[in-house]
Amino acid sequence: MTTTLPPLTPGTLYLVATPIGNLEDITLRALRTLRECDVVAAEDTRHTSQLLRHYEIQRPMISYFRFNEAKRSEEILDRLAQGQKVALVTDAGTPGISDPGERVVRAAIGAGFKVESVPGPCALISALTTSGLPTDEFHFIGFLPHKSGQRRNALEKIKQYNGTLALYESPYRIEKLIDELIQVFPDRTVVLARELTKRFEEFIRGTPVELRARLSEHRIKGEFVALISPATSGSPPTPIAS
Ligand code: SAM
Repeated sequence: MTTTLPPLTPGTLYLVATPIGNLEDITLRALRTLRECDVVAAEDTRHTSQLLRHYEIQRPMISYFRFNEAKRSEEILDRLAQGQKVALVTDAGTPGISDPGERVVRAAIGAGFKVESVPGPCALISALTTSGLPTDEFHFIGFLPHKSGQRRNALEKIKQYNGTLALYESPYRIEKLIDELIQVFPDRTVVLARELTKRFEEFIRGTPVELRARLSEHRIKGEFVALISPATSGSPPTPIAS
């Protein structure tokens, strides 16, 4: 069967999801969009050039993250106004989820340009669906603030939500996070989804106190998503060794 694929539409911003670790996790449509666009707008051009090199894609690149907030979207909007097809990528995953992609999308829509999704990997969705926690209702809060008081308030606030709670956290603050979860969510099951799609992918499950004990055995490194079971999800899932 042959399918004739429509060409990319001029003056459109394509949100292209890229791998969160494993370079094979990229769709055929994402690759075609990257090959056929006029320019790739990247969060970090050095990072994205590795991906493009791997797939032997040679397209001009611009960085939209090196400018200040106000200027960040300007060059992209100028290019869209010229009728260019712009592929927006972030360092990993789906642009717009806890990364600078969101602002660019808002600016493009505000200026009347078409924005199209080229879906693919997202750390949140991989972590949630593989965690064993309920997926029918969940609440994602992205990254917690850095300051202790604000972090604590944010965690107290999400206690009221039904469903699984999910957040992104830097590896440098994981231990701090576990200590905070001991205070705020002592009885919940927490799942740390670490290094998703990478060689050392691991799901660490347990109560916050159990996780604290695991962490004292060996420091965990890498990127991760933290998930907290709903208040009423019953008994914790059987721990699964990774
Ligand atoms: N837009 C991205 C997405 O779709 O997932 C997220 C961007 S955000 C700046 C980066 C955060 O996502 C990391 O700090 C980490 O919490 C999470 N993350 C990204 N890749 C991951 C991976 N391979 N394993 C676990 N968490 C990951």
